Amino acid sequence: MIEGKGLMVFYENMLALNNVTVRCAERQVVGIFGANSAGKSTLMSALSGILLDVQHKEKMRGGERISLYGEILYRGEPVQDRKAHERARKGIVLCPERRRLFPESSVLENLKIGAYLATKAQARDTLDYVLALFEGLKKHLKRPAGFLSGGEQQMVAIGRALMAQPKLLLLDEPLLGLSPAIQQQLVRAIPVIRTERNVSVIVTEQYARPVMPYVDYAYIVENGSTVMEGARDELLGNPDVKAAYFGY
Ligand code: ATP
Repeated sequence: MIEGKGLMVFYENMLALNNVTVRCAERQVVGIFGANSAGKSTLMSALSGILLDVQHKEKMRGGERISLYGEILYRGEPVQDRKAHERARKGIVLCPERRRLFPESSVLENLKIGAYLATKAQARDTLDYVLALFEGLKKHLKRPAGFLSGGEQQMVAIGRALMAQPKLLLLDEPLLGLSPAIQQQLVRAIPVIRTERNVSVIVTEQYARPVMPYVDYAYIVENGSTVMEGARDELLGNPDVKAAYFGY
């Protein structure tokens, strides 16, 4: 489905991603785990194309601060030179870190913003789907999104991403700052979305433990480099790896 090969990203002369290769197959759930500043968001913005847009904006302002190298194959097609909106149209949809909702717009408006690539029928169908998946949002549809709890806001952010009709959903730290109970509710939705919406998912998190049971394959990233990767059971089957990275 997607393969990022030999990805290198520099912010000025700081190396944020060092020759990282990640893959996610059709209908797979892949986890990317690493501490603060490991490079998770940089990787997600490289895959989604957001980084290219930021780089372009900087060039327009006369700066050349961000350098990006490597190849990204999406369903066999090189997309590393495609802008984020072109990749979104092909089905690569990012649900960004810290949600980035429009806090003064209503929940319904925030969800509808995601549907800009959808037909009317798709938008209706997906809205019904999101409200069935995250039932708690129904009663808040007319409220400003900024008034909702962190967990509810994250549900709106995931719902908005689903409205864009993803084939590959990139979830950047969806559990950040949420209580363990809400984290469980959100993380359990990931395999459900994969099956019911027929999507592949790449999810990043600082702490692997809550997400690990739901991924098929995982990468551990440290200081911009992949230090370990493997199928879930392979990683969890190694007691040293488990103790070092998954807090068991
Ligand atoms: P977090 O969990 O804090 O979001 P992360 O794993 O997502 O961390 P990144 O946000 O990708 O990590 O950051 C990787 C490194 O690149 C960090 O050292 C960060 O300070 C740096 N960095 C990220 N974005 C920029 C930017 N726009 N300009 C300069 N440096 C940046």
